[in-house]
Amino acid sequence: MIFMNKKDSGSISIMKIIGISLIFILIFGVSVMATEIDIRSVEITMSNGYTMTVVTTKTNVAEILKDNNIYIEEDERVNPNLESNITEEQKITITNKSEQEVQIAKISESGIETSLDEILKSYSPIIEKIVVEQETIPYETITKDASAGATETKNRIIQSGKDGIKEITYKVKYQNDEVIEKTKLSETIIQEPVDKIVQIQKNVTTSRSGSTISSNSETKIFKITAYCSCAKCCGKKTGITASGTKATAGRTVAASSQFAFGTKLIVNGKEYVVEDRGGAITGNKIDIYMDSHAEALAWGVKYLPVQVVK
Ligand SMILES: [Zn+2]
Repeated sequence: MIFMNKKDSGSISIMKIIGISLIFILIFGVSVMATEIDIRSVEITMSNGYTMTVVTTKTNVAEILKDNNIYIEEDERVNPNLESNITEEQKITITNKSEQEVQIAKISESGIETSLDEILKSYSPIIEKIVVEQETIPYETITKDASAGATETKNRIIQSGKDGIKEITYKVKYQNDEVIEKTKLSETIIQEPVDKIVQIQKNVTTSRSGSTISSNSETKIFKITAYCSCAKCCGKKTGITASGTKATAGRTVAASSQFAFGTKLIVNGKEYVVEDRGGAITGNKIDIYMDSHAEALAWGVKYLPVQVVK
């Protein structure tokens, strides 16, 4: 347009030629570049091992094969698959499917889904993991009857219960993200449960005949066991207590050194005297002396409130 205004015909025609030439060069150049992008040679390897090279403008694997009159049999597999585009390697490989794949394909066609699943499962790897799980150990409630046959009783919680925790280590086998086997390897108690202890007691506190229970006397739960004078219980048969008295059923108990000899204790509504000691009798434990080993065994282990008589 600038040249037109100058009205110089010679310049216009030269510039026109140059302009048209430039346009031609541009079009031709672009078409050459486009041609270079579109035409590719692809190497196709057949299932029998025969390799051929074809020239194509297509990128889709199915289209390239179709253009070259190559048809895929049911028992053949194409890599990359038919729907995909040719990769940078410019190669298509046709191989025979393995027997397993043919079997799966056949079953899949016949519609037996479960069998197909089973076949797939049996070929997927089994993964083994060590898994640690925490579980609650529920506390137990122990009821102690300290009412001594009283008609009016009340329940008193001596100790509140607390659940424990245990850690269980399992060996878990997974297949297809499903647990197929779970084996317990070990169990560790992280925290022991605490028993809830409920005591049934007389509703009205009365002083017992012959002894005065101090009002501020504390009631504590003790582990109460029983023993006799046999060798099994004492390692000797003398029947003489650590304090030198003759062990007497209904009176003698062994306790830890927190109670001096002669201390009177009320256990299970009966009064006893601390006259003996024992290697296993530590802390809040009391051993009641009994006439026979059978009686001691029958007593077993009891958790009962103990009061000191002052
Ligand atoms: Zn005994």
